[in-house]
Amino acid sequence: MGHDWVMRDDIPGPILPPASIGILGGGQLGRMLGYAARAMGYGIRVLDPEPLCPASAVADHVEVGAYDDLEAALRMARDCAVVTYELEHVAPGLVDAIDALGIPVRPGARALRVTQDRLAERAFVVAQGVAVAPWREVMVGDDEALDAALDIVGAPARLKAAFGGYDGRSQVRIATTRDRRMAWMDLGRASGQPAILEREVAFRAELSVIGARGLDGRYAAYPVFRNVHDRGILMSTEWPAGVPQAVDDAAASIGRALAEAIGLVGVLTVELFLLPDGSLVVNELAPRVHNSGHVTLDAAATSQFEQHIRAICGLPMGATDLLTPAAMVNVLGDGVRRPAQLGGIADALADAGVHLHVYGKRDVVERRKMGHLTAIAPPDGSSEDALDRAHAALERLSWMT
Ligand code: AMP
Repeated sequence: MGHDWVMRDDIPGPILPPASIGILGGGQLGRMLGYAARAMGYGIRVLDPEPLCPASAVADHVEVGAYDDLEAALRMARDCAVVTYELEHVAPGLVDAIDALGIPVRPGARALRVTQDRLAERAFVVAQGVAVAPWREVMVGDDEALDAALDIVGAPARLKAAFGGYDGRSQVRIATTRDRRMAWMDLGRASGQPAILEREVAFRAELSVIGARGLDGRYAAYPVFRNVHDRGILMSTEWPAGVPQAVDDAAASIGRALAEAIGLVGVLTVELFLLPDGSLVVNELAPRVHNSGHVTLDAAATSQFEQHIRAICGLPMGATDLLTPAAMVNVLGDGVRRPAQLGGIADALADAGVHLHVYGKRDVVERRKMGHLTAIAPPDGSSEDALDRAHAALERLSWMT
């Protein structure tokens, strides 16, 4: 892989260390991108509202500001050779302004605009001929539109705010058509705001495909990941997903088609539902590294974080091979908000196949993503065995009171 990579006149040359990479957002994804970039010799500058954000541990400089603070973003970007983002909730105008300084932002403003708005995202995916669950646009508070949409889409259905939802927030399940009157209140959005009603998919499995597209247009996907969510939050990932090769191939071609259509440079994650007939429908896109890809840190030839850095710097892609079956479980916060101190670590790591990643968030908050565990499979074991190992380790961890 990668042997046929050549420099081309029609694309800019690679960005090389010790150049600095700017990251909009300093959460755990920024932190792990930072580790990868740091390992390769790059400098790191971060924009985040919190000076002690997770990425601060690995950044040369944290510019303190909100994700729509133009002045702060420009100060952060000033000495950077390239800028990227670790979350979709960055103001696109800010990306345009950095771009206007001649500093490339990869994956770029278009990917942000498409993925920030569930309605724009649906329209985009459909325009590429890729399947999604039946859906209708509705305005919050418009009972007639909701009734009409429910008639078409059917129940059970999911009502989702078009903007600002993540980790299961701003999403309501409508189990039967009788439930609909409570839906607006449960969604908690002001009247007139755009939302989407879509059919609840009776999926066989949730999968994700993570692929990177280079500056030269080449695309490389990892084998798909199998994910389990609880109330919208990822709980665990198994890798490989244990699906037929045809499913893997179909997922990779969806990832490639969408990345190409956006003109994206960097990593694109596509969340998918696998239907009982073996077909795939797209749930959601993220123009970034993804929680379901964390297992690549310990089980892939190249981690998703390194792959993203390589892509945005115009370097050739790394190999996407899975080296060993593995699994990841998220370590979530629980209980009242308090300083984060994790107990049981030595017990969890007594299993030599287990790795712990802690994100350095100072406070535990109920259901906040605080870290993750990965486990590799025992010799000749499967990803299911790895998942058992990861769960056993997770049970040994607890947040101190
Ligand atoms: P989302 O925020 O849209 O990614 O949704 C979070 C999680 O809710 C998904 O990973 C699924 O587990 C579930 N979910 C969302 N939409 C649907 C749907 N249309 N059908 C079934 N499950 C869904």
